[in-house]
Amino acid sequence: MSFTHDAIIIGQGLAGTVLSETLSRRGLRAMVFDAPRHGRASWVAAGVVNPMVLRRTVASWRASEMLAIAGAFYREMELGSESSFFTSMPLVEIFPTAQEAAIWQLRMRDPELGRMLAAGPVNDAGLARMPQPYGHGVVLRCAWLNMQVMLLAQRERLLRTGNLDERVVEESDIRRTSAGMEIHGRTAPILIRCSGPFRQVAGLVPVRGEGLTVRLPGLSLSCMVHRGAFIVPVGDDIYRVGATFAWDDVWSGPTDDGRLTMLDRIKRLWSGEIEVLEHWAGVRPASKDRRPILGRMGPHEAVLTGLGSRGVLLAPWCASHLADHVFEGKPLDPEVDASRFA
Ligand SMILES: Cc1cc2nc3c(=O)[nH]c(=O)nc-3n(C[C@H](O)[C@H](O)[C@H](O)COP(=O)(O)OP(=O)(O)OC[C@H]3O[C@@H](n4cnc5c(N)ncnc54)[C@H](O)[C@@H]3O)c2cc1C
Repeated sequence: MSFTHDAIIIGQGLAGTVLSETLSRRGLRAMVFDAPRHGRASWVAAGVVNPMVLRRTVASWRASEMLAIAGAFYREMELGSESSFFTSMPLVEIFPTAQEAAIWQLRMRDPELGRMLAAGPVNDAGLARMPQPYGHGVVLRCAWLNMQVMLLAQRERLLRTGNLDERVVEESDIRRTSAGMEIHGRTAPILIRCSGPFRQVAGLVPVRGEGLTVRLPGLSLSCMVHRGAFIVPVGDDIYRVGATFAWDDVWSGPTDDGRLTMLDRIKRLWSGEIEVLEHWAGVRPASKDRRPILGRMGPHEAVLTGLGSRGVLLAPWCASHLADHVFEGKPLDPEVDASRFA
């Protein structure tokens, strides 16, 4: 049987964007269906690329490997588009206690963490304006991905090549044949669901996150700062500040509680004027064991989800690993295999 495409993807959030780009680099034709749904995470994400779990001062899962793959992936994607969306930027952790400062010093002696952590000081006019009784440390090799710009660049590329259909796919739109799948006249041997929290799969846990876009006139910060929340400079005195974590009432959208929490985090670091420009909320597709969820869900169906709060760091490796599995028959890493929750 001949197909119009090699894969049909549902969802053009972070997962679908990175997967469609990955397949295209391999010479495979992907057809993407996407429509904006209330609560999608990718359009509100702060875009911080951070290899550390700062709460515990430990490296995140496979941090070094993920960092190298993600950095190379987004840089190459940027080169192929007319937009700029990936910026290397140090992340400064302001220590809340003397104990945290001491733990940082200790971790810097670890062979793996030593390559990611530095003592500072960072010479930054904005940082110098923030109270830091216990000082700060620096996470190296961090970056900021302007996710909205990247998503729009890929959207335009897909529209230009006729490979994006902007409509909701209902289950009744999906026709299964013995050889593959068909949606609105497009056919492929495999359908890959990158639907984020909108498609329930075993092990997936939706987690609401909220944040603010604010103007902080006169702060002049040029690095990312973390103290209970991330403050990310996006230019012109504007900062993205996020994010909260909530496991109940995940589809509520922005809440007063979320807004007050984020304002409180800013006020710990900045006593000047705060102008709230936007208050956003989204639902992270997280997983029970904090690992991504990928793999086949049937002979002609697969899934890429569970990117949680580190989607930017994980998505390029996940997309490549899933493509190796689906198109080249390579085994899946059991740590991410969707069947672990079956
Ligand atoms: C407030 C907040 C801040 C965050 N900050 C960061 C950060 O700084 N760094 C980081 O790495 N991660 C961050 N994240 C996490 C990151 O956003 C997610 O890991 C990632 O965006 C998930 O992408 P996704 O493509 O799996 O899901 P989604 O973004 O939800 O994308 C799914 C897409 O599929 C579409 N869709 C679903 N079903 C259908 C259907 N049936 N038909 C058509 N279209 C459909 C949806 O409309 C959507 O466009 C943050 C998340 C939140 C909520």
